[in-house]
Amino acid sequence: MNSLMMKQPLLVSSILEHAQRHHGEQEVVSCRTEGDIHRYSFRELAVRARKMAQALARLGADPGTRVGTLAWNGYRHLELYYAASGSGAVLHTLNPRLHPDQLEWIVSDAEDQVIFFDLTFLPLIQELAPRLPQVRHFVLMSDSSHLPDAPGGILAYEDLIDNESGDYQWPLFDEDTPSSLCYTSGTTGNPKGVLYSHRSTVLHSMAVGLPDSMGVSARDSVMPVVPMFHVNAWGLPYTACMVGAKIVFPGAALDGQSLYDLVEAEQVTISASVPTVWQGQLQYTESRGLRFTSLERAVIGGAACPPAMLRQLEETYGVTVIHGWGMTETSPFGTASVLKGRHLGADDEERYAKQDKQGRCVFGIDLKIVDDGGNEIAWDGASSGHLMVRGHWVLSHYFHKEDQDPLVDGWFPTGDIATIDSDGFMQITDRSKDVIKSGGEWISSIDLENIAMSHPDVALAACVGVFHPKWDERPLLVAVREPGATVSAAEVLASFDGQVAKWWVPDDVVFVDSIPLGSTGKIVKAPLREQFRDHLIAAPAPSQTLI
Ligand code: ADP
Repeated sequence: MNSLMMKQPLLVSSILEHAQRHHGEQEVVSCRTEGDIHRYSFRELAVRARKMAQALARLGADPGTRVGTLAWNGYRHLELYYAASGSGAVLHTLNPRLHPDQLEWIVSDAEDQVIFFDLTFLPLIQELAPRLPQVRHFVLMSDSSHLPDAPGGILAYEDLIDNESGDYQWPLFDEDTPSSLCYTSGTTGNPKGVLYSHRSTVLHSMAVGLPDSMGVSARDSVMPVVPMFHVNAWGLPYTACMVGAKIVFPGAALDGQSLYDLVEAEQVTISASVPTVWQGQLQYTESRGLRFTSLERAVIGGAACPPAMLRQLEETYGVTVIHGWGMTETSPFGTASVLKGRHLGADDEERYAKQDKQGRCVFGIDLKIVDDGGNEIAWDGASSGHLMVRGHWVLSHYFHKEDQDPLVDGWFPTGDIATIDSDGFMQITDRSKDVIKSGGEWISSIDLENIAMSHPDVALAACVGVFHPKWDERPLLVAVREPGATVSAAEVLASFDGQVAKWWVPDDVVFVDSIPLGSTGKIVKAPLREQFRDHLIAAPAPSQTLI
């Protein structure tokens, strides 16, 4: 027996159609690479996206064609999100912070045939173009007045739009058709492609908007600071259109002052980015004694939110922190640290203890933790194990590796180590490759970094396991001081007193001018492990006695 309900495929284009019909007046505000601020309505967005879909067809981007973008967060990038996927092509966002060799590898693996790029990346495109013979068209996301004089067959985005009528119907097709492609950042080995479907994207976008996720509504002004090339800006470009929220795109200016000014000018209510970018913003507001007049929620994810940052945002700025966890393989939204009703009466410490965690699942995603033998571990908030995930927006295979099954009994092994408590709140204790193994016992590098960063004179900290003749590995803290601070290693180590077991306390603290950040703004530990591998043998000054 069949049900008697309408069958409408979950297509990315349907999000834009809804935005146009029901929120046509809503605004998209963008800081452009041309140097000015651009604003228009969802209605205009929809017209231009249809024109771009026509232009893509004219460029030969048939269904399934991979359309690459090398661009900041802005309205033209948003148009491409809908034009490429909506017309049946596959949007492939490229991370411009990657090394050109890596970009070349990714573009070739994805078989991109058209690449759209922002003005900023013209030199990069000019360097890469000769190495990308399969790319048939390069399109500068600006008008022809910004086209370089040099020959090279680069097209101008605005010319493509101007040539089209906008008289275009979004095609209907199977919701399992691919809509976009993102690559993992490949900290180990080559990056791997994750090919999202229209269905997974629509369901993920709905989940992102839920009250127990980022809680986005038509009353919000949303600023995705997280780049549109970092796992589709965590779904916000879709979710905002789905719910009719104003969208504010910061473009290339991600410094503290630019972000602060934009939040205030556009009365942003919710903003999302990785901790290192939030830190830049807070350093700016702190140094000038500024306050946010509209910001209500700060979504922090991609790496652990330091507890000190959470408290600062909540107590000094009155901003609610939504700490989230996810990965490219999970579209990326997995969990959010939004409280349950029974935590509302809790005192600050109890509440923060929950919010410090990476959070709990909404419907559509499921988690479990297992031991080395694959046996499920109890949800007691203390026992840690390998985090496994499954759900409607979790990958089944990597792109171009369809013959390999990455799942274990239908679950995706995340490579993260975590605990889950009786309320279902998951806490990442480490990535399995970052966990410090001292004398066979595990030490959480994230816990140690969080404690170090609660010291007012520590701006950034990374804890790595380095070689120790007796214990195999011991924690070493690599730290950057706040500007002008003179804090000593002993003073930083004193902040661990009573906070963790004695044998967890780092053996030493090394101060550096900067800590390497990867292409998505997260700390990269491999070079630190390499640089300081023999630190404890070279300078055996263990500040702590092991017990
Ligand atoms: P990459 O693997 O290149 O960093 P992703 O952006 O997919 O790419 O990163 C996913 C990983 O980031 C997760 O597996 C986890 O280790 C880490 N991560 C994401 N969010 C958090 C968080 N809130 N706390 C701790 N780690 C996080």
